[in-house]
Amino acid sequence: MYRIEIDRQLCSGFGSCLEAAPRLFELDRSGIASLLASESEDTAALEAARSCPMGAIAVFNRENGEQVS
Ligand code: SF4
Repeated sequence: MYRIEIDRQLCSGFGSCLEAAPRLFELDRSGIASLLASESEDTAALEAARSCPMGAIAVFNRENGEQVS
């Protein structure tokens, strides 16, 4: 299980995370990414974090707190 965080101050709304993980991310009215789920088993979360050009997404192993992407 992953725990996902977005640093909304860093997000510039490119939308790469939505393409990588449309079930986990959306753009809100201000064009900034927000989470549809803060916890998920979907490995697309890792891909989303890798795809973010701003490094705004962090993914943690929920069990041990270790950052995995
Ligand atoms: S990929 Fe990064 S910068 Fe782009 S919308 Fe998602 S969080 Fe924001």
